[in-house]
Amino acid sequence: MHNKFLLVTTLLFGSFFASAQEKSDTAKDKDGNLVNKTTTVATANNVGVVQVKDSIFMLTGRGGNIGVCVGEDGIFMIDNQFAKASAQILQRVRNISDKPIEILVNTHHHGDHVGGNSNIAELGTIIFSHANARSRMEASFAGPTDKVSHQQKVDSILSGYRDKLRTEEDKKAAIAKAEQVIINMAKAKVPAGALPIVSFSRDLNFNYNGEEIKVIHLSNAHTDGDAMVYFTKSNVLHTGDVFFNGVYPYIDTKSNGSLRGYVGGLQQILRVANEDTKIIPGHGRVASIADIKYTLGMFKYLTAQVEYNVVAKKTEAEVMAMRNLTKEYDEKGYGDGFITTEKFLKTLYNETAKKYQK
Ligand SMILES: [Zn+2]
Repeated sequence: MHNKFLLVTTLLFGSFFASAQEKSDTAKDKDGNLVNKTTTVATANNVGVVQVKDSIFMLTGRGGNIGVCVGEDGIFMIDNQFAKASAQILQRVRNISDKPIEILVNTHHHGDHVGGNSNIAELGTIIFSHANARSRMEASFAGPTDKVSHQQKVDSILSGYRDKLRTEEDKKAAIAKAEQVIINMAKAKVPAGALPIVSFSRDLNFNYNGEEIKVIHLSNAHTDGDAMVYFTKSNVLHTGDVFFNGVYPYIDTKSNGSLRGYVGGLQQILRVANEDTKIIPGHGRVASIADIKYTLGMFKYLTAQVEYNVVAKKTEAEVMAMRNLTKEYDEKGYGDGFITTEKFLKTLYNETAKKYQK
């Protein structure tokens, strides 16, 4: 109830503040769909709208790019940035179509893509994700940021009972009970609706809004729960974070993402896309197959260079100092995003060094 109240109030405020921005994107056809190429430019905390193709739109803002497919059946959505942006995102979606958001696909578990899940779920939307993405979302609510270790939690629950636990059996039973309490506490932290209702382990197909929509899992690329979404009729592909356009990408190796899998993911994108495919990247502007090829070329070139230096026993510091390696890309602004040149080279070095340690 409390959540609903919050959402309604933020929706009202969101529409009030956003109204000045709306003038450019209110041209609609008789079905209430947006017509003409309409672009709302995103500023600091502002959500922008780009018409990618016919009935498919990209919403930009502080988090990952959102995909929105509108049609007869309803709205099919991909990702949703942060919870704070939900009100403005929903308002932008309402400007495109009045249909309900029936389906939401999470491309992976990162907060800048799924942060608004519970706000969207409140509208009755069914959320889908890869099984690994779902368990990582659940784990993130359980608190990787908790400063208190599991053992400390158990100790603190048991502290008042210590002298009552005489036998080993009493002790064991009390520890088991304490552990159950900790699990329940972690579960209670998950906001209602934040977790996907449907999860899949490989691929998933939708037949919606007059087209076949393929959700394809990419293994151990950006994370171990990545999925890209391909609209077969519109020929639009949302890659999730397996592709960053124009900036160095983030490979979340702590969530089992890998350099090898990331390159494999880019190759898989090339197998699905063709010259006419419009590509919505996880971050950055709408792209084409040429941008994927360029990024793949960058990976191949830099990986080969780093590998050569690793084999030549150069240290991490020495490789990091080789600024000429990344010059071509740095000059194009690749290091100006969330992942700096240093961070990217470090990932390449660590992933390559790992290979040669074996
Ligand atoms: Zn991500």
